[in-house]
Amino acid sequence: MAIKNAYLLDLLERTKKRNPGEPEFIQAVTEVLASLEPVIEQRQDLVDAGVLERIVEPERQIIFRVPWVDDNGKPQVNRGFRVQFNSAIGPYKGGIRLHPSVNLGIIKFLGFEQTFKNSLTTLPMGGGKGGSDFDPKGKSDNEIMNFCQSFMTELYRHIGADLDVPAGDIGTGAREIGYMFGQYKRIRNEYVGVLTGKGLTYGGSLARKQATGYGLCYFTNEMLKANGMSFEGKTVLVSGSGNVAIYACEKATTYGAKVVAMSDSNGYIYDKNGIDLDAVKQIKEVERKRIKEYLTYHPNAEYHEGCSGIWTIPCDIALPCATQNEINGESAKILVKNGCKVVSEGANMPSTPEAIDTYLANGLLYGPAKAANAGGVATSGLEMSQNSLRLSWSFEEVDERLHNIMISIFKACDEASKTYGMPGNYMAGANIAGFIKVAESMKAQGNV
Ligand code: NDP
Repeated sequence: MAIKNAYLLDLLERTKKRNPGEPEFIQAVTEVLASLEPVIEQRQDLVDAGVLERIVEPERQIIFRVPWVDDNGKPQVNRGFRVQFNSAIGPYKGGIRLHPSVNLGIIKFLGFEQTFKNSLTTLPMGGGKGGSDFDPKGKSDNEIMNFCQSFMTELYRHIGADLDVPAGDIGTGAREIGYMFGQYKRIRNEYVGVLTGKGLTYGGSLARKQATGYGLCYFTNEMLKANGMSFEGKTVLVSGSGNVAIYACEKATTYGAKVVAMSDSNGYIYDKNGIDLDAVKQIKEVERKRIKEYLTYHPNAEYHEGCSGIWTIPCDIALPCATQNEINGESAKILVKNGCKVVSEGANMPSTPEAIDTYLANGLLYGPAKAANAGGVATSGLEMSQNSLRLSWSFEEVDERLHNIMISIFKACDEASKTYGMPGNYMAGANIAGFIKVAESMKAQGNV
């Protein structure tokens, strides 16, 4: 992934200087700029219009204090973020991450990626992302509500149904979205689709919960088919056991694969008979407990401490669905050595640059996050459409639209990779296809 073009190298250096201490953001920018070399060589007009300088600079970055009171009556303070990255093709759109690791650089990498991902969906959505270093783990419902209400008490000034529409991400599920939506409605005194991932009784969309995981499998299935393969009979690893991981496991199993391992931030389970997803849903969605509880349902399964060990299990297909940089170069080499043929990303940027180089050098099929996990935001876009129409579509209708969007995303990546002389490099294809629509729009709208 080395950049050779002098202009792009200089731009990357300037971006590094301007954004010190933000390694994840620089990692995401480097990957995109490297993929854009063949485009830039043909499109001097985009360089002249300053599109690239502008595309790596967020339109707006908001940082705010989030004070709340815990169950012991003690004041607590977290830091809130909303990065409105790019509105060239629609209102800002992207999730809210609640995790102690959250900082400005992580929110910027996610917002930057989101810009291209949203473009790939073909829906009119710009890129944004938000979050806080608040840790929802171990907090009571009351503490979660206090935090979410305080977070929204500042955020409401910056968002709106035609301006910026946040959604869920790590640590933000239906419960948190519900509390945030309630507070927005109370402060603004208006009932609008300002958040997606809402509950089904108050404007949510059927199939939104399943969308990222199902969409990942729809994309992966297209990639497999295009290369003469299928999920049928394959052994699959799914990291994480949250929203994306659970529904990736469900759809991969429906396609005839056997998922043998899942994880959380403490460790991973290995069940050679195939993961019992009902048990995982009970532990994670209902009881909010740790993945090691799986052994109480299946004492013959194995539990191992630590996250990266999951990649040492032999598999045909790896679906990383937990967090950024969870597969490093070393883990990637072990996957290859054990016969893995496909890596397709449910999480955002789960592979380090060294891992990606290893996949490409060894001819693995590689489904990059911004294409493979775009089903979540695509279905959020469908939730916005339903809210505007004041209609609710059936599960089947939303799922069919999602499926068609994922087919078209794969096609766009495949075609761009061929047009620019890198057939089969879906990472380059995704970056190029996502970029061109945003870049043309930015050029057309002038230097804003
Ligand atoms: P959840 O909070 O539902 O689940 C996250 C899972 O990943 C949990 O099992 C969690 O374990 C694990 N995890 C989180 N952080 C770490 C870490 N630092 N190390 C190891 N494991 C970790 O989040 P989602 O399923 O919604 O999100 C997962 C990924 O998918 C993220 O990268 C997110 O950005 C991406 N994504 C999500 C979309 C969505 O619609 N929700 C859409 C597109 C992408 P634990 O419980 O122990 O923290």
